[in-house]
Amino acid sequence: MKLLEFQGKKLFKEYGIPVPQGIVIEKKEDLKDIDIPFPWVMKAQVLVGGRGKAGGIKFANNMEEAIKNFEELITMEIKGEKVRKVLIEEKLRIEKEYYLSFFIDRSSRKYLMMFSFEGGVDIEAMAEKVMKIYVNPLIGLQPYHLRKLPKEVREIAKKLFQLFIEKDCELAEINPLVISNGLAIAADSKIIIDNNSIYRHEDLPKEDIELTPLEREAKEKRIAFVQLEGNIGVIANGAGLTMATLDALNEFDGKGGVFLDLGGTDDPEKVKQAFELMAKAKPKVILLNLFGGITKCDTVAKGIIEFLQENKINCPVIARIKGMNEEKARQMLKEYVIPIESFKEAAKKAAELGG
Ligand code: GDP
Ligand code: MN
Repeated sequence: MKLLEFQGKKLFKEYGIPVPQGIVIEKKEDLKDIDIPFPWVMKAQVLVGGRGKAGGIKFANNMEEAIKNFEELITMEIKGEKVRKVLIEEKLRIEKEYYLSFFIDRSSRKYLMMFSFEGGVDIEAMAEKVMKIYVNPLIGLQPYHLRKLPKEVREIAKKLFQLFIEKDCELAEINPLVISNGLAIAADSKIIIDNNSIYRHEDLPKEDIELTPLEREAKEKRIAFVQLEGNIGVIANGAGLTMATLDALNEFDGKGGVFLDLGGTDDPEKVKQAFELMAKAKPKVILLNLFGGITKCDTVAKGIIEFLQENKINCPVIARIKGMNEEKARQMLKEYVIPIESFKEAAKKAAELGG
């Protein structure tokens, strides 16, 4: 379960991690009751990543600007997720932006603490400059781990670790961890709680916020659909092939924006619904990777065509089609997609267009 920024910050506060003074509102009328001195930072509350880049963070120096910003933010849709709440905070004077997180690293079977002097931006972009400190779960976070961090963030790291453990987090991230007037303060939060532990966290928000609205819609339609950070919509059949496709994109620095697994469906109506959902997520490019085994490629093609005849899709669709009735499917889709035979070339092209 993902928490919204303000919910994560509430936990931070509980654990003694400094956060900016702030308030969450849903209506414009509530702006006038806010007694936080200007300038403000106004932040759309959404679960999808890349909010800042998508325009979901605005600054206001006075009420007039605040009203204008609020109206823009609350009508905004970020990667298909409607903004329902806006967090308003005192704008921090930023001296430095660090990155700090704890994460369950399954491959090393340890907790992984990550720290970087260059936070704020995408973690991927700063991958080489990140300090990785592994924490044995049987021993826990020790002073010698903390001494590798700059002095001013050690106390926060200790508290974040405590939160991470006690709330059964998969991830607890502060990006950026800001230095303002010489003091460290959490300017953002990203918390993911292990769903298997929810039953023992009565205190956590009860709203069904683990899914984005599109993911919820997909769940109702029984379509395996996950929204990710990037801009490339991946449709494939079978979770394995879908994941392999995301991996292939990664090889070419392409970031998946949607994981959509058609499963073994042979039903054109289901395919049509899947495409509808994909279109709503507004990817920059769609990469369709079909492997017809039990599924026949042409029935999938039929569903795609039914959707595309009725709807305009505002991005290119790259299609790699293999397996049963592939020729027929390729013929059918000829006018609608960019066909690429090789998996590798298809991934490369999608990465280019979706970068
Ligand atoms: P994200 O894009 O969803 O990760 O949103 P963040 O809350 O991390 O904010 C993104 C960026 O906006 C930060 O890295 C800062 O550069 C800027 N920002 C956010 N809050 C403040 C603030 O209070 N003061 C200033 N000066 N910049 C801020
Ligand atoms: Mn951030």
